[in-house]
Amino acid sequence: MDIRIGYGFDSHAFRPGVPLKIGGLRIEHPEGLAGHSDGDVLLHAITDALLGAVSAGDIGTFFPPGDPRWKDADSSIFLNLALEEIQNAGYRIVNVDTTLILNAPRIAPVSGELRARVADLLDIAPSNVGIKAKTPEGLAADSVAQAHAVVLLERIEAPNELQTMSAVMESQRQLEDVVRDLVSQVHGVPMKPPFDTDDIT
Ligand code: MG
Repeated sequence: MDIRIGYGFDSHAFRPGVPLKIGGLRIEHPEGLAGHSDGDVLLHAITDALLGAVSAGDIGTFFPPGDPRWKDADSSIFLNLALEEIQNAGYRIVNVDTTLILNAPRIAPVSGELRARVADLLDIAPSNVGIKAKTPEGLAADSVAQAHAVVLLERIEAPNELQTMSAVMESQRQLEDVVRDLVSQVHGVPMKPPFDTDDIT
């Protein structure tokens, strides 16, 4: 299969006195997102979308919430693991699209910076990253930030497979040389390779 789609969702509650980090960007706001890690709801949703696209489980599979190693962890660590997973599976990102749902702060003033930051973390062009934001109308979720993310992946050339193929061809050539030598020893005359047409004329 040459393309894969992945989807991820995450939510975190706002808490006073916690730094707010969304998409790897520090945003000035009186409240941040509570979580075992840095609570980066957008990076968590993208991480799950990437892992889901290659059927590699989810963020909790790799980073259990209770594990003290991930206390206050920078969520780009999770994202980098997901990027490794898709690369190991032989895929790369075509584009990512996301929607944030939160009452405050307003995302529009920082959306350009946010898009550039996420693109940088994913090592893709900003033109391949969609950042959209909505308020939670009718959801009664003003103290929560939610994020949805979809990713599209495409298959990359697998250099290891190509190397394996050329190694097989090389060993086949060596085997033919050995057989030719053996036949020459038995018959006492050098055996010409069947494809040698030099002296046909
Ligand atoms: Mg999370």
